[in-house]
Amino acid sequence: MKDLSRLRLAVIGAGLSGVAAARGLADRGARVTILEKSRGFGGRCASKRWQGHVVDHGAQYFTLRDPRFAAAARTACGDALQRLQAPVLDGTGTALPDDGRWFHREGNSRLVRALGEGLLIRTETPVSDARALLRAEGGEFDAVISTAPWPQTAKLFGLQTEVDDIPCLAAVLVYRGEWLGLTRDAYALRDPAAELAWSACENHKCGRAAAGCTVLVAHAGEAFSRAHLERPATEIPGLLRGAVEAAWGMPAAAFVEALGHRWCFARSEGGLQTPLLPPGLFYVGDALRRSRVEDAWLAGHELAQTWQPA
Ligand SMILES: Cc1cc2nc3c(=O)[nH]c(=O)nc-3n(C[C@H](O)[C@H](O)[C@H](O)COP(=O)(O)OP(=O)(O)OC[C@H]3O[C@@H](n4cnc5c(N)ncnc54)[C@H](O)[C@@H]3O)c2cc1C
Repeated sequence: MKDLSRLRLAVIGAGLSGVAAARGLADRGARVTILEKSRGFGGRCASKRWQGHVVDHGAQYFTLRDPRFAAAARTACGDALQRLQAPVLDGTGTALPDDGRWFHREGNSRLVRALGEGLLIRTETPVSDARALLRAEGGEFDAVISTAPWPQTAKLFGLQTEVDDIPCLAAVLVYRGEWLGLTRDAYALRDPAAELAWSACENHKCGRAAAGCTVLVAHAGEAFSRAHLERPATEIPGLLRGAVEAAWGMPAAAFVEALGHRWCFARSEGGLQTPLLPPGLFYVGDALRRSRVEDAWLAGHELAQTWQPA
């Protein structure tokens, strides 16, 4: 395998694809810097500390099917990796198959932070033009690997793309009282075609909900998310609350507070055939596989094993 020790590489994005790519390229000797627009690791594997709760409002859980990802996650996180015990029910109330739904005890973004431990990262560094980072254009890097969702990457690379990602409106809802409604019996309810495509009870992730509360995360379906994408984030809980309370049998009077989040690039259709990219610019991310935590990490990991400068 080619030694990369003379190369300075930029990886855009500190999500799972980014940390896996950066780690693998650094292991091959390259000097890698992650450029991340937000304040830290995680990307769509996001957790929020809010009002005494720790809530995963992006990726809800992850699988550990591939032995390479399982080994990396276990080495990085140890016993902070925990398995959900309660079932996910479909629209008919039937438990879906479960070959291991895992979470990080302190919030799923900590998985990404642990996998990225020791890597060089510049946070709060939004890239607007990837070419300008290249040495050939007066920048400091020999090559740039973007792991931003493909529609955003295309923009950074100055390319047109017909491919659009699927948005998702998300809400976190807090109720007074523990284990209200159906929450003790199920971890989550999943009905992808419905307005409320996913809802899950964070109390099943031990220690995450503040004492005396039930915390639910809700994700709207694709059609509903597209129809309401321009609504302010503060209005999102109001759009989903009725459906959540009906599905879980939550007493409306116990409602305390809520927050909303708009994921404009939540999921890719997958199967992207990478178009011809400008010299020095590369893309890796979940659009090349599937929009899952494990797939994003594997995409970055595999790129790093085979990547060649030109
Ligand atoms: C609501 C939701 C629920 C999900 N649920 C699950 C689940 O339960 N299980 C599962 O396995 N997967 C789930 N997923 C999918 C999973 O979260 C993603 O597939 C995975 O996290 C993608 O990782 P990534 O590194 O490819 O991209 P991202 O995590 O999006 O990382 C890209 C990074 O690039 C940064 N970035 C973007 N543009 C710029 C720029 N211009 N300059 C600098 N930085 C930039 C972003 O801030 C981000 O940190 C879910 C996703 C969403 C949105």
